[in-house]
Amino acid sequence: MTKFSDFALAEPIKKRVAEAGYTTPSPIQQQAIPLGLEGKDILGIAQTGTGKTAAFSLPAIHHLLNNKRRPGRNECRMLVLAPTRELARQIADSMTGYSKGLGMYVTSAFGGVPINRQKRILARGVDVLVATPGRLLDLIDQRCLTLEKVEILVLDEADQMLDLGFIVPLKKIVPMLPKKRQSLFFSATMPKTISQLADQFLTNPVQVSVAPQSTTAERVDQKVTYINQDDKQRLLKDFINKENPDHMLVFTQTKHGADKVVKNLMAVGIHSAAIHGNKSQPQRERALGDFKKGKINILVATDIAARGIDVDGITHVINFDMPNVPEQYVHRIGRTARAGASGISYSLVAADERQFLRDVVKLTGVKPDVIALPEGYDEPPREEVAPRIYGQKPKRYGAKPTRGGPSKNKHGNRKGRPGGKPGGGSGRGGPGSSGSSGGPKHWNNSTKSFKRRQARKSDA
Ligand code: AMP
Repeated sequence: MTKFSDFALAEPIKKRVAEAGYTTPSPIQQQAIPLGLEGKDILGIAQTGTGKTAAFSLPAIHHLLNNKRRPGRNECRMLVLAPTRELARQIADSMTGYSKGLGMYVTSAFGGVPINRQKRILARGVDVLVATPGRLLDLIDQRCLTLEKVEILVLDEADQMLDLGFIVPLKKIVPMLPKKRQSLFFSATMPKTISQLADQFLTNPVQVSVAPQSTTAERVDQKVTYINQDDKQRLLKDFINKENPDHMLVFTQTKHGADKVVKNLMAVGIHSAAIHGNKSQPQRERALGDFKKGKINILVATDIAARGIDVDGITHVINFDMPNVPEQYVHRIGRTARAGASGISYSLVAADERQFLRDVVKLTGVKPDVIALPEGYDEPPREEVAPRIYGQKPKRYGAKPTRGGPSKNKHGNRKGRPGGKPGGGSGRGGPGSSGSSGGPKHWNNSTKSFKRRQARKSDA
């Protein structure tokens, strides 16, 4: 097995790695570090939690150290682009640690905090800048930063960048970079849009990837309960009281939803904090700090805010709302399976979220265990309900059957079943059938992708 000592990394870097307590390189590190040291462009498929920060940072620091030069005013030698403030800060912290005592200046720049301090730091020039795309462009527009001297570019969590609508800023950034550079591009998933974006950044890249996403999903003990939306809060409270979790991360689909969960938990004497895009940077940092220190056991987050949460030892991940993009589910539950650990995920699935669960099962190939509702809860409706579009009330899928039989659409098929498959029965999608059926036959793709697009635009 490869050890860190086998890599051609400068000795002081190996020392920092040992101080960080790393003994064995993770799979992505085994693949990417030698390629990075050769100066190759890399297209990496890996999620957070796989050790990819060190995979791209260590060879880059080696390069910066071996070709030492003082960065000019308003210049950076290495640029790392990250989708969220939390992730940008986390990468900058890790890189500061890996390069400690090597005379390197690492800084981060993101929105939500005053820009002037960032301008002052950049005025002197920095070795490594970790930035979110929006703030980066602000700094460039204000002539406080030039990308002309970037030697190494890293684009991290590209799929999240696209989800957050950073495609336009990224396209603006590409032409500002020098042609001769090393580029490293990481994404947890690689749909066509992402590989097209990668083409713009990379030259003859070598592709590296770690085990498919389902591997993480397999390490997590996944549970699901079908429930009425209005009962979720009560079940969450009961679950917390029963499990008494050490480090529980609760995901909601909206910022408002996250605040509501915290408020309702507070009302029953359970202390928690929310972290999402409407919280100020100090509020986010306080919530995260309290969670890390164990001052609070429960953190309620939206997907975007959760991206940069690097907390080891998360014992439980709760999907208070199911994510409408299945890859997001894998990111979420992966929070509890970091560095080979295992954990519990528990999804509360309302009738209009069953389709999202089916999408998840299709992606991961893992069927979560169904936990029956405890006594005292009403069973949720079992009929098929259209997938939720956040911000709207759930709708019944197709018209209610009338006495004369199911209503028909203009093609003479049952409404909501464009294929007009015979024997549709009652159209049930209850616990018995959901979670195991893969994609439903009656979904017309264009409807599905339209709803997905709508949902992605939703408040997150
Ligand atoms: P990342 O995927 O870069 O966010 O890293 C996930 C976590 O794994 C971080 O807490 C790192 O400090 C830790 N880590 C990274 N590489 C190693 C390694 N080779 N051995 C042990 N822990 C590691």
